Amino acid sequence: MKVDDCIFCKIAAGEIPSTNVFEDDVCVAFNDLSPQAPEHILIIPRDHIDSLDKADASNKAPLGHLLLTAAEIAREKGFAENGYRVVINTNSDGGQTVFHLHVHLLAGRPFVFPPG
Ligand code: AMP
Ligand code: ZN
Repeated sequence: MKVDDCIFCKIAAGEIPSTNVFEDDVCVAFNDLSPQAPEHILIIPRDHIDSLDKADASNKAPLGHLLLTAAEIAREKGFAENGYRVVINTNSDGGQTVFHLHVHLLAGRPFVFPPG
């Protein structure tokens, strides 16, 4: 389902430009506009889900698909062995700014834990 005024729904529909690195019938992966690491890719479901907080059992398959796609992209782009970080910011304290669920895939530098 597409939600009006959702920027990531528009990216999934090809209505606003993005630099896509992968897409299939379930998800689209594209470079983040404001990269926080040498590699910073966002992976979104084509069907709108507000956030992880709003996901339910009906979203189980696409959620699994997003994570497996992140791992596949990491292997394809050659940074899996060095390592990477996968992040799903959720709601206000989690730092979520775009309310269409997305997985951040970050790589190309070491990351500290816990994050700030
Ligand atoms: P979050 O803060 O977890 O909701 O992440 C939203 C991310 O979307 C941020 O890293 C933004 O830089 C990124 N972003 C926002 N608009 C766009 C866009 N049009 N194309 C690519 N990335 C975007
Ligand atoms: Zn959306």
